[in-house]
Amino acid sequence: TAPIGVLALQGDFREHLAVFEELGADAIPVRRPEDLERVSGLVIPGGESSVMDKLSRLFGLADPLKSAVASGLPVFGTCAGLIMLADSVLDAIDGQQTLGGFDVTVRRNAFGSQLDSFETDLDVPALGEPAVHAVFIRAPVVERVGDAVTVLSALDDGRIVAIEQGNLLGTAFHPEITGETRFHEYFLEKVRTRA
Ligand code: GLN
Repeated sequence: TAPIGVLALQGDFREHLAVFEELGADAIPVRRPEDLERVSGLVIPGGESSVMDKLSRLFGLADPLKSAVASGLPVFGTCAGLIMLADSVLDAIDGQQTLGGFDVTVRRNAFGSQLDSFETDLDVPALGEPAVHAVFIRAPVVERVGDAVTVLSALDDGRIVAIEQGNLLGTAFHPEITGETRFHEYFLEKVRTRA
């Protein structure tokens, strides 16, 4: 079977590769359009979305990535990766573009400078017990969701931080850095049962 790809232009792609390795799933870094053609699913990691955007265009990956999302490739975006998958972004850097796919509006750095990073335990009913220990680092928040979007988790104040739409999965936080594997397992299941 085809490996999972992890977009490896920038950000914490190594951590995602390590989670797949822990789960015994074949995963490869994706840096060129040829890499993308080989994969059965793709993770877009955390990092800095404006830089990832620039690099993806520079390396000729932006259009292949958009086509892959549109064709129904399962894609999991964490933090900056979620921003990359949003149709609309608030507080974007000048000229910043996204791949789109999620019918949502996401706000970058939504927790402000007072609270750059924090950790909390999140209920994610789709993943069962126990709660997910979630690390937020200059994280975005989902401020508008279209009808096709399922909310997987929100903070106590109602701010949406995990979503799913068709073959897309997104979290505002970083399950790849806490020893949490359930989001990756959930994603692998989406890849297996790809519509
Ligand atoms: N603030 C970053 C951005 O706008 C995201 C941070 C992260 O991925 N941890 O892309």
